[in-house]
Amino acid sequence: MTLMPFGSDPILVTGGAGFIGANFVLKAVSSGRRIINLDKLTYAGNLDTLTSLEGDERYQFVQGDIGDRALVAKLLARYRPVAIANFAAESHVDRSIDGPAAFIETNVVGTLGLLECARDYWRELQGDARKNFRFLHVSTDEVYGSLAAEGLFTETTPYAPNSPYSASKAASDHLVRAFHHTYGLPSLTTNCSNNYGPYQFPEKLIPLTIQKALVGENVPVYGDGRNIRDWLFVDDHCSAILRVLEAGRVGDTYNVGGNAEQENITVVKTICALLDQYRPLAECKSRESLITFVRDRPGHDRRYAIDATKLKRELGWAPSHTFESGIALTVRWYLDNQPWVQRVLDGSYRMERLGA
Ligand code: NAD
Repeated sequence: MTLMPFGSDPILVTGGAGFIGANFVLKAVSSGRRIINLDKLTYAGNLDTLTSLEGDERYQFVQGDIGDRALVAKLLARYRPVAIANFAAESHVDRSIDGPAAFIETNVVGTLGLLECARDYWRELQGDARKNFRFLHVSTDEVYGSLAAEGLFTETTPYAPNSPYSASKAASDHLVRAFHHTYGLPSLTTNCSNNYGPYQFPEKLIPLTIQKALVGENVPVYGDGRNIRDWLFVDDHCSAILRVLEAGRVGDTYNVGGNAEQENITVVKTICALLDQYRPLAECKSRESLITFVRDRPGHDRRYAIDATKLKRELGWAPSHTFESGIALTVRWYLDNQPWVQRVLDGSYRMERLGA
């Protein structure tokens, strides 16, 4: 298996101010890679996460849209990246229910613009630079739809997206596939399960629960709380992406999962128990009493679960965290980084209910 020689050539990361992208940027730079981070800074982008890289010559931030062809072409010509890792997206399912158009604009039209720029840049490369170039598209297991109690998503599961968000991601995955088959663009796609960990925007289940339970507010749980997700610790996801970039088979897709299926209600109760242990409430009140069931999300998929054996078999990747170790680290991180959380909450988002 040949490893892609990154050398000193940078990777162009899009959406690197978001949750997963920023974790990836921090990990990649700390392991010696050069990163150009192109991010539009929507409500989900937060440069606060990346302050430790200020002044680091291995890191460059550019504010802009992945669909801005002139800007992307200029960045490619200037920085000559060896790879593009596309994290940029409208990514919040509830927001896609309230307003799907932005999801089509960025996830479909924006990805198309990025692909066209990548194709044109790659075509002009010569020798090893052309051979080694990769376009890695970060996608989701939600493109596969919902599972019943049994079974797992594999790379050959037919697409059946159920929300405007997953439909837009499915469209972008198909475009990436088509650019490989039509133009030969050396692309790779990863479809991962629900991520959690440091720096996640506090409207997602895990940080929202931590934040509400910490201050003793009611903790909302959609429907009956029995929806199942396969939780992936974000640092494990980032190492999987690096591995696929280095050694993935061009044109292929790889599922990334945490082998950590949990019902939402179990996730919430685990967080309550950890907080009770780390920060007991007055009079030993248990935070489980804060759990409040609320009206379900429309079209809420029942179960996602990933079969990541291809990634293990072919590239030797497996998650290093169990759900128990990852969630304990995550709760600790949020307790230790309340100033980061507060600065996010000072912005437009106020933990209001979306997508109802
Ligand atoms: P996020 O919403 O936290 O971050 C997205 C980032 O993209 C933000 O910094 C935002 O400013 C930027 N962005 C949005 N539109 C842009 C545009 N037009 N041009 C440039 N930048 C733009 O998302 P995330 O949770 O970090 O997810 C990253 C990727 O992983 C997404 O493609 C998402 O679909 C995928 N994914 C996420 C999860 C998860 O659990 N979070 C699971 C599976 C797949």
